Amino acid sequence: MTTILNPATQESLGEVREATRADVDHAVARAGDAQARWAAEAIGYRARSMRRIADTIRNHLEELALLETDNVGKPIADSRGEVSMVADTFDYYAGAVDKLVGQSIPVDGGVDFTLREPMGVVAVIAPWNFPLAIASWNIAAALACGNAVIVKPAEITPLSTLRLVELVDDLDLPAGLLQCLTGKGSIVGHALTEVAGVDKISFTGSTEVGKQISEVASGTLKRLTLELGGKSASVVFADADIERAARASVGAVFGNSGQDCCARSRMYVQREVFDQYLKAFADASRVAVMGSPRDESTTLGPLVSAQHHAKVSSFLSDDIDFVELGAEPEGPGNWFAPRIAVAPDRTHRLVEDEVFGPIATVLPFDTEEEAIREANNSIYGLSGSVWSGDGARALRVARGIRSGSISINSNTSVRIQTPFGGMKQSGVGRELGLAALDSYTELKNIFFATE
Ligand code: NAD
Repeated sequence: MTTILNPATQESLGEVREATRADVDHAVARAGDAQARWAAEAIGYRARSMRRIADTIRNHLEELALLETDNVGKPIADSRGEVSMVADTFDYYAGAVDKLVGQSIPVDGGVDFTLREPMGVVAVIAPWNFPLAIASWNIAAALACGNAVIVKPAEITPLSTLRLVELVDDLDLPAGLLQCLTGKGSIVGHALTEVAGVDKISFTGSTEVGKQISEVASGTLKRLTLELGGKSASVVFADADIERAARASVGAVFGNSGQDCCARSRMYVQREVFDQYLKAFADASRVAVMGSPRDESTTLGPLVSAQHHAKVSSFLSDDIDFVELGAEPEGPGNWFAPRIAVAPDRTHRLVEDEVFGPIATVLPFDTEEEAIREANNSIYGLSGSVWSGDGARALRVARGIRSGSISINSNTSVRIQTPFGGMKQSGVGRELGLAALDSYTELKNIFFATE
């Protein structure tokens, strides 16, 4: 059993079972049966079922949001927003069930067309930072395409996902269509990656584990979507609305206490506005309220675990000039006050590595070319921002940065309707939007001879 802790109080939220290899085999067999029944159901039934899942989530929004808040330490307002997005994601993909269209292709001697068929059994292996949201983006797209899903939440944050699966169980869909297996990544996650009956893995987590999964999954040539680490850049030009960029950057780097794969933790600011931006960013950040995640006014919760707190703390070093942005609350939580590292050396590990905590680095640049070069100076390429009043320049820079998504004069990357995923070592494949449907279907070509 794993004891699940509240990161704000260190109190136990209960015990969760650790699945065994036999549980994995049993779940895979059930999922295979359920998938065959689900894919054979009428299109209208499948779309309606997805909408029923969305409605159920909305009817239990507060309960699910509280589970996420207590288990992850997320401010309650953020948890409500995430659960609401989860419901919207099921609605969005309900609309895709009857739009999985193929093509007809001109050929000699017959008629040729393509079909989009389900992959089969999908294992969704999820991280702890947005447990329900990230699992659900993949669950919803996979179900819409006629697949069955086994979801494995991170060992420390399984509660919202377990509850979602219980709620879906009550809807009387094919038994085993959506199952949850809890436990260690090295046992349950590994088994799902290895077992022959799983056709596709959708993994969200660290680049290191993504590489291991890629290796193990190659044994059975499973299809893979890998959403991995990030170290995204925000490039601020002197002609930008500096106050607006600075205010938006607070959420971009300290939101979810910095435990966000899209965090723009490398901020490159044109030298002539460097001091102005730094002051505006620090002032705006000091308004953040760190405290009990259940408190409506809280905007910053604790880090997810003591182990993660130790990892983030290891980035604090004496050779860096930090601006401290507030005090940590008293008490037993994994509190870590946000900080800005001012112009550290570009090769410092704080600039190169994913911290996954509330530490921003702000560095100066002079020219457009330098900004693009610095933004690209990373093994990662997940998201990022460009801030400029010159639209043509903003677009040039956005195109020059090798990253799966870039926002101009905005700090947000994730929308249900648009593709999301990484270049370079930030991942393989895309989630969300219609693009995700490609990664949950196999393309079959049919040729019908007419001569
Ligand atoms: P992690 O890689 O430690 O774990 C992620 C999941 O993989 C967990 O469910 C874990 O149990 C499982 N796992 C661990 N070892 C495994 C193995 N050998 N085989 C199969 N499964 C295994 O990541 P984390 O610490 O939970 O999450 C933080 C990381 O996730 C960060 O690097 C962050 O950038 C990344 N992330 C990426 C995105 C994205 O969309 N690109 C989104 C959120 C988080």
